[in-house]
Amino acid sequence: MGINAGHAQVVSTSAAPDWHALPVNAVLDMLDTSAQGLRGETAQARLAAHGPNALPAMRPVPAWRRFLRHFNDPLILFLLAAALVALLLQHVVDAAVIAVVVLINAIVGYIQEGRAEQAMSALRAMLSANAHVQRDGARIEVPVTGLVPGDVVLLEAGDRVPADARLLRGRGLRIDESVLTGESVPADKTSEPVAADADLATRASMLYSGTLVASGQASVVVVATGAATEVGRIGTLLGGVQAITTPLLAQIGQFGRRFTLLALVLAAALFASAVLWRDYAWLDALMIVVALAVGLVPEGLPAVITITLALGVRRMATRNAIIRRLPAVETLGATTVICTDKTGTLTRNEMTVRLVCTAAGAVQVEGSGYAPEGAFGPATGAEAARTAAEGVARIGALCNDARLQDVDGAWQVDGDPMEGALLALAFKAGVDVSALHARHPRLDEVPFDAGYRFMATLHAEPDGGALLCVKGAPEQVLALSRGQLDAEGSLQSLQPEAWQQAVDAAGAQGQRVLGFAQARLPQVPPGFGLSDVSDLVFAGIAGFIDPPREEARRAVAECRAAGIAVKMITGDHAATAQAIARQLEIADAPTVVTGRALESVSDAALPALVERTDVFARSSPEHKLRIVRALQSLGHTAAMTGDGVNDAPSLKQADIGIAMGHKGTEAAKEASEMVLADDNFASIAAAVHEGRAVYDNIRKVVAWTLPTNGGEALTVALAIVLGWSLPMTAPQILWINMVLTITLGLALAFEPPELGVMQRRPRRRSAALISPFMLWRIVLVSLLFSVGAFGIFGWAQQRGLDMDTARTMVVNVFCVMEIAYLFSVRYLHGSAFTWRGLVGTPAVLWAVAGVVVAQLAFTYLPWMHLLFDSRPVPWLEGGVIVLVGVALLVVLECEKWVLRRLDVFEELKHAPDPSVARTGETR
Ligand code: ADP
Ligand code: MG
Repeated sequence: MGINAGHAQVVSTSAAPDWHALPVNAVLDMLDTSAQGLRGETAQARLAAHGPNALPAMRPVPAWRRFLRHFNDPLILFLLAAALVALLLQHVVDAAVIAVVVLINAIVGYIQEGRAEQAMSALRAMLSANAHVQRDGARIEVPVTGLVPGDVVLLEAGDRVPADARLLRGRGLRIDESVLTGESVPADKTSEPVAADADLATRASMLYSGTLVASGQASVVVVATGAATEVGRIGTLLGGVQAITTPLLAQIGQFGRRFTLLALVLAAALFASAVLWRDYAWLDALMIVVALAVGLVPEGLPAVITITLALGVRRMATRNAIIRRLPAVETLGATTVICTDKTGTLTRNEMTVRLVCTAAGAVQVEGSGYAPEGAFGPATGAEAARTAAEGVARIGALCNDARLQDVDGAWQVDGDPMEGALLALAFKAGVDVSALHARHPRLDEVPFDAGYRFMATLHAEPDGGALLCVKGAPEQVLALSRGQLDAEGSLQSLQPEAWQQAVDAAGAQGQRVLGFAQARLPQVPPGFGLSDVSDLVFAGIAGFIDPPREEARRAVAECRAAGIAVKMITGDHAATAQAIARQLEIADAPTVVTGRALESVSDAALPALVERTDVFARSSPEHKLRIVRALQSLGHTAAMTGDGVNDAPSLKQADIGIAMGHKGTEAAKEASEMVLADDNFASIAAAVHEGRAVYDNIRKVVAWTLPTNGGEALTVALAIVLGWSLPMTAPQILWINMVLTITLGLALAFEPPELGVMQRRPRRRSAALISPFMLWRIVLVSLLFSVGAFGIFGWAQQRGLDMDTARTMVVNVFCVMEIAYLFSVRYLHGSAFTWRGLVGTPAVLWAVAGVVVAQLAFTYLPWMHLLFDSRPVPWLEGGVIVLVGVALLVVLECEKWVLRRLDVFEELKHAPDPSVARTGETR
């Protein structure tokens, strides 16, 4: 009956058995499963019966409501009111044009919002979690959504509990249940039944979906999934869906509101002066002023910026950087320091043992990768060294959770690469690993923890005693030892200095060093734990090579050129870390500080020390938090990598927390802004590169939108104030606005990174989006647009063309000038007069083609003539209009050139000379 409870629970809680009050065996029986897990087919059948292990999605907002939301804008409502007035006064064409513009606006907004939303949900899908389950007797990984009641799940520190489950076996298990109970202190768990009437917070035998494994390991049996779980019943979405907003979008939104207010005040003033002073008919004045306000307000800007961000997110994903929170896209571009792990991120995490060192002498090991082939012979000393080294290899094989697999001739590790390397070592030393395991079955263990840096396993001895095997950071293992084996294999007193020398020597070559020790116990200790690991006999050390990643070396160089400091934070030995830092050229002469030294430094002195240190060795997760805080106190925008559950606080604290996709825990991923799909440092640099490009593109969108809107508005306002005839009618203004925002404004979102993006200093995060340079641009370009428009308007009238034709020419010259300005703005910093600059990206060319087609239609189609009072423009006049655009581009490029040399604006100062910047381009 237990199985069928799944659905019943949704309706009535009383139908569920009191799993917490039942003994383990009863629970397993009721769920018709065993400690070895379900069979594959059973799991499939149950999945069909119970449905996926996921909370029901929130009901989506219906499409029509999302569409209507785009009309909920004061300006749009104002426009609609104007259309209604026009309709009442039988200006049908004007009313229709306004209605169409409003409609198209809403459609574009709706589509753009949908695209941004799509990009975000694609991201969420990429981050779906997996669980380790026991099925068909083997440990496999399945998506969390595929769990069913009866599944036996294996959990370890950092995992999110994927479903409600009864504890079968736990070791050092502590569960953070704060999401469910609000209790911040992790709860201890036991597999013993508890009282039937215990409340949720005191059910020590249960683990609940959504809670976090703070430490230890466990195997549990799933009792409820999906909506039947406790969180499912509460009906809250944990780690809920994030809204699409970022500080930048908020800034733009606020700017937009102020701008709208200003535009409305200006429009009202203009309306008053037109009616009272210039004797316009009030309806004409109203129409023109409303059109102007619409033209002036950059209402499409937030949507275009969201799309720019979403495109950035997509590009980052193709480069293995998965963004979990949208603001990270902006922040990434401002990163000034990256704190990174060493093993696996900067190095390849492909370990091979090169050296085994015992009291009897050193043994060199040959071979590459994990293949169990390669010489294992004494370099110094004699056969005794070989025998002693075999002893080390045996400890390494026993104190080991990894497996080696021959996949089509290539040996691969399933588990920790360092442990894989130890298995390969055992084979090379001639140890029969399976026989060894058969003779000494494992009884218990103390798992590795970055806090104490060793791992211990307890094995049975054939004579009834026990064998304790320990491996870990040498100084740690030495501290737990009371003696060592001498050359003949008998006990002698420990000589830590000699070992330390050997460790330093290997570390100086960049080798990762591990110490090994063991102890024989007369009987198996009851309740084996951390405190039982002591009084060991030190056996020796092993040196591993773990080559740096070539692409990481290039990425470090790229970061340094971009003014971004790279700091290595590692649990490894100082000498090893420094040697790797040198090989990667993290700094010209990398400086090292150990975690121990860091502890004796006061908070006040820390920032200065952290600033000048390149490598933090033997540091634990708590040090990371202090380091990132110190960097932030110096004004740095800090990115920080991490993988363990203990890294979560520092990942949260960092401006950009970066979790490892492969070896990272769920806790680390949830605390971070970004996840690296390939655990590779190079992907961080790539993401920063994209982040800078995205920010550039947003600035380009703004730099293009504001002056073009300003130009239209200024032209019409001048005409009214000066009492000249209007160069454009209201519908024509709306037309320009519509055609251009749909096409050109969006094209800039697709710009690839400019040359030399990674040769600039990082931008200051406090810097305003509308910089002095941008303000200058808005004023200059608005003026130039007005000059161009009035120039064409006057010239047309001089040539005796009628008013309608002259206005058509003005509309055309606006479009041409906006296209010209688009080409100029594509290169905020460099010159647009390059082959790449003129040919443009496909998006720009498509947009320009769209505008050209729309303008040809506007100018030459009879029904357009009816709608907009446009007229065909003669060829000569058309040619002159195009030349005005070319002239504008030339003028703006000259301005850029002059300003760069005059050094007026801060932001142009750091712009690399495009003739020098050649290496910045990576795509
Ligand atoms: P890193 O920053 O290089 O990833 P870790 O925190 O993983 O450092 O490891 C720190 C140290 O702990 C290593 O230098 C090694 O001495 C020891 N160590 C790492 N993994 C294991 C393991 N599986 N068993 C025993 N000791 C380990
Ligand atoms: Mg590690």
